[in-house]
Amino acid sequence: MDSTNISKKILYWYDNNKRLLPWRKHNSKRQKQYFTLVSEFMLQQTQVKTVIPYFEKFVKKIPNLKRLSKINDKTLMKCWEGLGYYSRAKNLKKTAKKIVIDFKGCLPANIDTLKTLPGIGDYTSNAIMAIAFNIPVIPLDGNVERILKRVLYLKKDYEITKESLNKKKLIFGASKRSSDYAQAIMELGALICKPQNPLCTKCPISKNCVSYKKKDFGIVSKNKFNKIKYFEANIYKDKNKFLLIKNSKFNFLKNLFIFPMREVKQKEFNSIINKKINIKMSNMDMKIVLNTRNKKIKIKNSFFLDKNNINTYTLPSFTKKILNSVSKH
Ligand code: SF4
Repeated sequence: MDSTNISKKILYWYDNNKRLLPWRKHNSKRQKQYFTLVSEFMLQQTQVKTVIPYFEKFVKKIPNLKRLSKINDKTLMKCWEGLGYYSRAKNLKKTAKKIVIDFKGCLPANIDTLKTLPGIGDYTSNAIMAIAFNIPVIPLDGNVERILKRVLYLKKDYEITKESLNKKKLIFGASKRSSDYAQAIMELGALICKPQNPLCTKCPISKNCVSYKKKDFGIVSKNKFNKIKYFEANIYKDKNKFLLIKNSKFNFLKNLFIFPMREVKQKEFNSIINKKINIKMSNMDMKIVLNTRNKKIKIKNSFFLDKNNINTYTLPSFTKKILNSVSKH
């Protein structure tokens, strides 16, 4: 496969079709680095279209790394509220602090050093190297993975391991415009080689694509089963007020406000006949039974949230979902 040709085709397509995403508009190298860092943290578990308004609000309020390193946690959480996976926000601030203290405020342009920073793993370090520093690496995200699997028609288990896919990336070749090129491949996956119904007639590399020739676009994934866990949430309600506690018990949503909850066995869960809801978390599917109790009690580290003033609190989406559900009750 002629990889120079592939990179030219993909870049030409990108130049004519790329989205004007807010983190692609910057005034200086330093701002590009900051925007890349913030957007890559936000995009770690969230889709582009959800991230856009959050990113815009975030950089307006916290315009540079130095400000981020000193931002108080309440403001930080307010900027992140609703985006979920709050540990990302905390890690982002820790990373900013470390960069200011240990690296004189400059994002390090070294993959191993980047990986020592909180919240930066394999993918994010590669993305930063390519996008912010124009280093010829191609980060392996879901979009790049899908294109590889389709172009090379990879179906067997041993072909789709991370290690194997990282080697297969060679088909993309390289470009002097490494920053644009990394974004171009990801953009091609997001806009054209979509998970369902890929738009092959608009694809610049359809001639190189085995799946297109075979008209078989199925993607084989390694099985990722989410665990199902069962919980009981106690909704202590006093007119329009609901009791929330600061979570120090569960590993998810640490230190955020949730309804008092406990994990239960499936058998016990099934035996309770109150309203039940499902909430998907990054690593588990939660099934929650809601026990509404019309009384006031006192629990350590708790407060009564007034639903009429909900916007004045920083709450995880998880708690808002339960709140909406019990308000309709
Ligand atoms: S031709 Fe179709 S399946 Fe192949 S890479 Fe392009 S969009 Fe994806």
